[in-house]
Amino acid sequence: MPKDQEQEKEKVRKFARRYCELSGYKLNPDMKMAEIVIEGLAKNRVNKGFQYCPCRPLTGDPEQDKLKICPCKWHKDEIAADGHCHCQLFYK
Ligand code: SF4
Repeated sequence: MPKDQEQEKEKVRKFARRYCELSGYKLNPDMKMAEIVIEGLAKNRVNKGFQYCPCRPLTGDPEQDKLKICPCKWHKDEIAADGHCHCQLFYK
């Protein structure tokens, strides 16, 4: 993995842990799964400039796509309904 991406992965890990502290959510207890999502977010930070959700297609319209920057617009509703967000990064 390129060095940039490894650094970005660490930033995403820090963001995710901090967001859990603030929100009361938990990270996916299956750390392998969590790491796959974290890697996808880091790749988007490097390649697309923002930590876009790796589990949602981008439209190319910045107004629509900004809703998909993690933590995305839908995660609270998804966690309330399903116990986890669409990507299964954050859990109740
Ligand atoms: S589904 Fe989860 S991982 Fe994906 S952007 Fe929303 S909160 Fe982040």
